[in-house]
Amino acid sequence: MSQQLYDLGSAPPLGEVPEKMHAWLIRQERFGEPVDSFQLEVVDVPAIGEHDVLVYVMAAGVNYNNVWAARGVPVDVIKARNKLGEPEDFHIGGSDASGIVYQIGDKVSNVKVGDEVVLHCGTWNQDCPWVAGGGDPMYSPSFKIWGYETNFGSFAQFTRVQAHQCMPKPKHMSWEEAASYVLVAATAYRMLHGWAGNTVKENDAVLIWGGAGGLGSMGIQIAKEAGAIPIAVVSDQAKYAFCESLGAKGCINRNDFDHWGMLPHWKDAVGYGQWLKGVRSFGAAIWEVLGEKRSPNIVFEHPGETTMPTSMFVCDTGGLVAICAGTTGYNATVDLRYVWMRQKRIQGSHFANDKQSYAMNKLAIEGKLDACMSKAFTFEQLPDAHQLMHENKHPAGNMGILVGATEFGSGISGDAVERVEHVRVPQQRDQGILPFGLALPLPLPEVSDQPGAGFSADDDDGTTVRDLMAEDLITCTADEQLGDIARLMLDRDIHAVVIMENKEAVGVVSQTDLVLARQGRPRLEACALTASEVMSRGCVTCDVGTPLNAAVSEMTRLRIHQLVVTEKSGAHNSPVGFLSMTDIVRKVMIETP
Ligand code: NAP
Repeated sequence: MSQQLYDLGSAPPLGEVPEKMHAWLIRQERFGEPVDSFQLEVVDVPAIGEHDVLVYVMAAGVNYNNVWAARGVPVDVIKARNKLGEPEDFHIGGSDASGIVYQIGDKVSNVKVGDEVVLHCGTWNQDCPWVAGGGDPMYSPSFKIWGYETNFGSFAQFTRVQAHQCMPKPKHMSWEEAASYVLVAATAYRMLHGWAGNTVKENDAVLIWGGAGGLGSMGIQIAKEAGAIPIAVVSDQAKYAFCESLGAKGCINRNDFDHWGMLPHWKDAVGYGQWLKGVRSFGAAIWEVLGEKRSPNIVFEHPGETTMPTSMFVCDTGGLVAICAGTTGYNATVDLRYVWMRQKRIQGSHFANDKQSYAMNKLAIEGKLDACMSKAFTFEQLPDAHQLMHENKHPAGNMGILVGATEFGSGISGDAVERVEHVRVPQQRDQGILPFGLALPLPLPEVSDQPGAGFSADDDDGTTVRDLMAEDLITCTADEQLGDIARLMLDRDIHAVVIMENKEAVGVVSQTDLVLARQGRPRLEACALTASEVMSRGCVTCDVGTPLNAAVSEMTRLRIHQLVVTEKSGAHNSPVGFLSMTDIVRKVMIETP
């Protein structure tokens, strides 16, 4: 008769599954700081299905996704699962683990009880028509990340996984090391090997952002293993030796440059010129590392908003920018001229399928891929490890947590075929990064469908564009000079004029267009330009009855500051006014008596 519950660290006899287990649980009523949200409880060991495996967890890995799960944002994972018919009112997270197989489902043949395994976090429904038809499961609507989008992850004595998630544990790694690398390494593998036409190959130059980070350290090693030449970008020279020991030919310190962030407007001759200077000197730094004037064939992207313009610019003709996250923000800007003329490719990439995970793990087993574990924690410290990550105070590299294993460094049972010793991961983190990670699902606020509800409840008064617009629509001809238009705008206190040609509205000149025209030009030269030379072609219009929040979304989406307001008159829409951001600020920011 099996014992009902075992103490942590005291393993049940192999293959014997107790009724209950110790686990770190997240519950809705304590969503918040990870240190409060995770609490130790005793719950039933989950039952397994015919394709499932129950693994006795020896160690678990730490990822951002369970910081989000603990906080309940951007998604309440418990509510999401309950909606799909799963009854548990708690979440056991954990999307990385090493452990021992204790029980297998009737149809499982790839592992047996007693096998030492590491687990990848990709799950999908085998009966999904796309998967059954041989499609890449990463595109299946049933795809879910184990231990985030599914329950019973690795923060417990036992975890339930699909059999195909099990891969052999590298014998030369401790339990905690083995639990720390799979999620990031498999993601890096797909980014570099997954995109036919641009897969990494011998002698390719590969630019790796965040080379000393979790993903970047894997990216360097996987690129190097393919015979490519990795160039790492980091924020501190102290990280150079580590990246170079992993295989980077050299490193670039991003703090030596200041052209980061969204692209200046292409009409802004001065701003754009400065950006070009910055990005070109960054390109020259790449050449210096390579020792020749060539561009990266692949750029390994994850910072997102601050680095994408640079990634797209420096990427070689016909090259690939593979991106798996937007850690610094999601609104990446790209100069499309370089995309089409140089025929570059932007490719979104998310985790990995079985084939890619197994190929990555083979490298780890052979000792060609170091786990780059920087810090290990005890089971009791699990909430602290997540709190560190939440506060962005965690060390670079990957982290492991003991679960069933009682000592750090245990679990090594053999040698790697070939083992490479690396410099240890530098401990300091001197750059703040924003936790907009795994990119799925996006952190959207819950917005009501009610008209006007885009602002807070007290603004939800059904305001439409008609209520705020300036009724006075000023028009000019296309050959009007900017000096005259500027005077007109100031005299009439308006933000833009509509440009008419043959009684048709053909464009808009805004105050921004006037200021941009002056960038890099003497005043008289800018004043002598005509409306046709600087106007934004076409008119972005909205109907007078449009709810205010819909108009705001349209303006922010297009990054414009005004809309031409039209009203139906007979068969046509006639322009009747202007709505500017200033009008909206007056309404939503200034308290009215
Ligand atoms: P990490 O260990 O924290 O490393 C991120 C690195 O980015 C840092 O080491 C930092 O290096 C660099 N960085 C920070 N701010 C930067 C900036 N403004 N510009 C350029 N580089 C910057 O995180 P990670 O584990 O590598 O994960 C990176 C991102 O990928 C996270 O958002 C994560 O959630 C996501 N991710 C996605 C998937 C997926 O399947 N889609 C899988 C794994 C991870 P320096 O300061 O040295 O430059």
